[in-house]
Amino acid sequence: MPSETPLHTVDLIRKKRDGLALDPREISFLVSGAASSSIPLEQLSAWLMAAWIRGLSLDETRSLTLAMRDSGERFDPSTLGKVAVDKHSTGGVGDKTSFLVAPIAAACGLAVPMISGRALGHTGGTLDKLESIPGYRTALTLKEFESVLARCGASIVSQTPALVPADRVLYALRDRTGTVESPGLICASILSKKLAAGLNALVLDVKTGSGAFLRDEKDAEYLAALMVATAEAAGTRTVALLTDMGQPLGSAAGNWIELVESVELLRNQRSPESPSPNHDLRELSLILAGWMIHLGRKASTPEQGRKLAEASLEDGSALTIFFKMIEAQGGDSSVFADPKAFHKPGATQVLNAWQSGFISEMDTTKIGWAVQRTGAGREKAGEPVDPHAGILFHARRGAKVEEGQPIATLYTTNAAMLSEPIALLKEAIVISATPPQSVPLVTKIFTRENAEAYLRDAVR
Ligand code: URA
Repeated sequence: MPSETPLHTVDLIRKKRDGLALDPREISFLVSGAASSSIPLEQLSAWLMAAWIRGLSLDETRSLTLAMRDSGERFDPSTLGKVAVDKHSTGGVGDKTSFLVAPIAAACGLAVPMISGRALGHTGGTLDKLESIPGYRTALTLKEFESVLARCGASIVSQTPALVPADRVLYALRDRTGTVESPGLICASILSKKLAAGLNALVLDVKTGSGAFLRDEKDAEYLAALMVATAEAAGTRTVALLTDMGQPLGSAAGNWIELVESVELLRNQRSPESPSPNHDLRELSLILAGWMIHLGRKASTPEQGRKLAEASLEDGSALTIFFKMIEAQGGDSSVFADPKAFHKPGATQVLNAWQSGFISEMDTTKIGWAVQRTGAGREKAGEPVDPHAGILFHARRGAKVEEGQPIATLYTTNAAMLSEPIALLKEAIVISATPPQSVPLVTKIFTRENAEAYLRDAVR
């Protein structure tokens, strides 16, 4: 019986090295060996490099995702009596849609068990932003998570040590062995955590453009289609939107200042300026929430879902849920009564336009590094972040600016930290004589049908 043949890690490394696909049993063997530390790191690293170079087939990607999902504890939201939906973004600068879509979807009758990440590299982290609220706890037990979800409909927490332990080992190894940027490995890493949360439906926001993790549009499309097909095969209704990260989303990038901007939108406050500086953030949040509500079977179309989402901003129900969730997780929502009084950056400086013209380019990866250097992000995992640090943008791509006009305000931990992010912003922002071409917020949408067709046609 082949299934009884003992497996040897070195044979599986050789097989992948030679370009052959591993079967589900072989993949499970490697994943359980990673989770239990029974396979040494040098062998896991060799297999990861072979997988990176040879690529994973669709079947291998599916097997890896499921084996990783099953490598630890799983959350079962069925006791909540609601459809469980989530949104996941591949990471960006100023991307704070989670603070809007989670309470909006909950206000529309769905459960949103959101397991989020921290800032690393040039991208911000939802958990770091939330922890700028005094008392807010992100590390809840699964029992506490369930209790917050039952009371509020939404909960945003960190990954527990028992959830997808194989990803902890493999992701840390990939980070150290140059094997992060592989579509199959990224797909399995992201989806194993989402599927372990027991989701019925998932909306993926795959970023493209200068601030995206995968800058090449074709790479982003392939990853989006792969994630949709893999999650659908695992029984989770899934859609992926390719969205523009060619400039920060909204006007704030940092920690506390991003929450303030989100709460302004949850309060349905609109800037008198036209177009409003956070029009893109509101719009994208409504589109994503519309899809969540549609996939959660509360609306017959995403457009209808968007209408319900907008109504929850207008009637204040999403804001009520957001504050209730903060309080349920130990946070003090009263700080939002006077956000300016709570904001105490070590140093502040306004950056003025150095010439007149149009803002034609914003290199958003460089801007992300500028935000990180204010103190808002970290260089190494585990380092603390400054809740008050960040950058507020007063002008967007395409804006006409006059020399001397403020284009950004920087908030840093201390005055000595101002010069580096200012220099980075001056490199990242281009002011030209002519306006740039406008870029749509959503460039492509993958559902199960077109994702499978895309993958069939993709030459990989
Ligand atoms: N985020 C993850 O969780 N895993 C990856 O591999 C990449 C981004």
